[in-house]
Amino acid sequence: MILDWYPGHMKKARAQIIEVLPSIDLVIEVLDARLPASSSNPLLEKLRGQKTCIKVLNKKDLADPAVTKGWVAFFEEQHGVKAIPLDAKDRRDVGLLPKLCRKLVPNKGGKGQKPLRVLIVGIPNVGKSTLSNTLMGKKIARVGNKPAITTRPQLIDLRNGILLSDTPGLLWPVLDDLSGACRLAASGAIGDNAYDSFEVSLATLDYLAGRYPALLQQRYNLSELAATALENLAEIGRRRGCLVSGGAVELPRAAELLLRELRTGKLGRISLERPEEINDAVRQGDSRNSNLKPPATRLNGCQEG
Ligand code: GDP
Repeated sequence: MILDWYPGHMKKARAQIIEVLPSIDLVIEVLDARLPASSSNPLLEKLRGQKTCIKVLNKKDLADPAVTKGWVAFFEEQHGVKAIPLDAKDRRDVGLLPKLCRKLVPNKGGKGQKPLRVLIVGIPNVGKSTLSNTLMGKKIARVGNKPAITTRPQLIDLRNGILLSDTPGLLWPVLDDLSGACRLAASGAIGDNAYDSFEVSLATLDYLAGRYPALLQQRYNLSELAATALENLAEIGRRRGCLVSGGAVELPRAAELLLRELRTGKLGRISLERPEEINDAVRQGDSRNSNLKPPATRLNGCQEG
């Protein structure tokens, strides 16, 4: 369902990060707050070693605030990690970051000290360029709504003791876990041609019906939800006029509509994964998420898989 994606970029991106990391004091990993596990790449944890890392849970304006709070606690149990929810478009929010960087690396970035070198990393479309632009206060880095628009490295003097190395940190999404790949597709992190929006919409509807039934009912004026995702999608299509001549529902159009409305926050603030679900995946031995193994204390006595 999810096609091969980013085949050629991976080696190059990895080499770029390895090259730039030795000169970096602090790494800012930008994650999508709606799916912080699936929008991370475990490679970064291996590459950054002991370097301090701020995990920015970006697009917090689209995510469920209670779930985001859980993710902050989850990440802050990792060594050398500080997590902060952000809306990268919000200057006041982003204004907290330089202060936090200087606090975490107290021997750099202050008066009479060497500049603090910061690297922003993340998979495409999580908001790296938007965050850089807001940090800079004007548009230098390019921003786009399609994956992989950022290409050339830049060093930017933020004139607050911080040098920002913007573009070398391009990670790629890990797509070997089907449900994680599906969530990435639902969030808009994967190019349109790389997945089947019908299948992604069904998997998403399944999750939403379980976790956010009231938001679904409210948005599409459904008095109750049907037993299957397909029936719910058909009903959404009917209510929104996604019909072909003869009155049958045009399911692909309904699927696109649902995903568009999810991505733009029209359904409400929705998180597509929760820390406890990742713990479950770890217990069940999920190959991709086992890289995100939480400390044993968070497993509530369960066996690690
Ligand atoms: P990059 O590929 O990681 O550099 O991502 P971009 O900065 O190009 O952002 C991808 C898309 O996400 C753009 O349409 C941005 O406007 C949008 N975006 C970035 N940050 C936020 C945020 O905090 N909230 C919302 N709602 N959208 C954001």
